[in-house]
Amino acid sequence: MLTLIYNLFVKKIFEGGMLIYYCCIFNNVLIRCIMKIVDPVIFVENYDSQRIMKNIERACRTCYKSENLITNDSYQKLLRNCINRGHESILEHEKISVRMICDIGVYKDLTRHRFASFSIESTRYCNYSKDKFDNEIKFIKPVHIEENSEIYEVWKKTMENIEQNYIEMSKLDAKPDQLRMILPHSTAAEVYMTANIREWRHILSLRCSKMTHPAVRQLLIPLLLKFQNDMPELFDSIEYDTEFPRDKFAKLEIID
Ligand SMILES: Cc1cc2nc3c(=O)[nH]c(=O)nc-3n(C[C@H](O)[C@H](O)[C@H](O)COP(=O)(O)OP(=O)(O)OC[C@H]3O[C@@H](n4cnc5c(N)ncnc54)[C@H](O)[C@@H]3O)c2cc1C
Repeated sequence: MLTLIYNLFVKKIFEGGMLIYYCCIFNNVLIRCIMKIVDPVIFVENYDSQRIMKNIERACRTCYKSENLITNDSYQKLLRNCINRGHESILEHEKISVRMICDIGVYKDLTRHRFASFSIESTRYCNYSKDKFDNEIKFIKPVHIEENSEIYEVWKKTMENIEQNYIEMSKLDAKPDQLRMILPHSTAAEVYMTANIREWRHILSLRCSKMTHPAVRQLLIPLLLKFQNDMPELFDSIEYDTEFPRDKFAKLEIID
């Protein structure tokens, strides 16, 4: 008996420095994964920044019939002038798509933007208690709750309880429409989002500021910095919360 108690413990499993599982090990046998906490990620679909800016220039020069003035770098001055003067409809001719793994709270905020398009993992169709989802709910680690703090422990315990109750309800044959009633804002979801350049400028100017929820800033400031690096003519006038800690930025990856 003593040996059994000795061998029952909760093991933390880390991957790349990030906590991903709490597992109950009983006599060296894994009996249940009771938690999965993940960091948010943003995947940016590969784009050709020069092509985007030159296409916008070509559209813009239609207005002035000044296509004859196009040179290799003529877009630089033209785009800055147009943005300064508020001639922004030209920016609607080009779009960029991203994929995000974020929490429900983040996508609730982002989907308020009416000129962006979204396809989002549906809590009405996904049953996280099934094998397809590794029989678990994934939760996004809250960027603004310090790990190892008492608040974090309460948050973690709440997520564990929610997951256990979700699985319990599923065993009672509850359908995803019913199961989702207990999913919290912290639930991880995959979001595919597309916006044109004008709308990205608008979204980023609102959502990278200090007024915005930290979980949104965590994802969108790295995106803004990438856009500023690749397309300064279009994005470098957008201000953001420069005090947001870089080590809390969501990981940004380029995808095809
Ligand atoms: C810090 C912050 C706090 C917020 N708090 C709350 C809150 O407590 N409760 C809440 O409900 N929402 C809240 N919001 C959401 C906010 O009110 C907007 O719904 C959201 O930011 C989308 O912004 P938008 O309407 O400018 O953008 P988009 O939908 O992206 O529209 C872009 C632009 O198009 C124009 N436009 C779009 N639709 C219309 C229209 N029907 N008529 C005229 N012009 C239009 C506007 O110029 C608009 O700025 C908050 C947003 C922020 C950034």
